[in-house]
Amino acid sequence: MQLSEHFTLAELTKTNTGLDNEPNNEAVMNLKRLVTTVLEPLRLHIGKPIIVNSGYRSQAVNAKVGGSRTSSHLNGLAADIRIEGMTAAELAVAIAHTGLPYDKAINEHGWVHIQVAPLGMKPRSELYTAVFTEGKPTIYLKGIV
Ligand SMILES: [Zn+2]
Repeated sequence: MQLSEHFTLAELTKTNTGLDNEPNNEAVMNLKRLVTTVLEPLRLHIGKPIIVNSGYRSQAVNAKVGGSRTSSHLNGLAADIRIEGMTAAELAVAIAHTGLPYDKAINEHGWVHIQVAPLGMKPRSELYTAVFTEGKPTIYLKGIV
């Protein structure tokens, strides 16, 4: 199923955990909003394909990959993305300069976590840099550091 010109439901729900990762209708609607309002315009702005590492995650998948219990990935509101030839910091800065209606973007070093606000909520356009301790993000610093 095509969610927008360059993004499919399959790439936004893929997992290498082998666990069930079927989104409900609400999550599909959120994914569609994520790609049409943020990812597709971002691709156009940068002019390069966006690689999705992780989009929607079922409870089982999220637990397996060590995601936060309140992760936006659980509702289909977030994706971890990267672009060939750009560092995560460069991508995060580019996102901040687009003026797109993203809620939160986090430079997670190998990739950027980007999320939209829940339906009806105003996007905050906040930018953070994650600090990892023993492989897990433990602190989020405002901006690019
Ligand atoms: Zn993420």
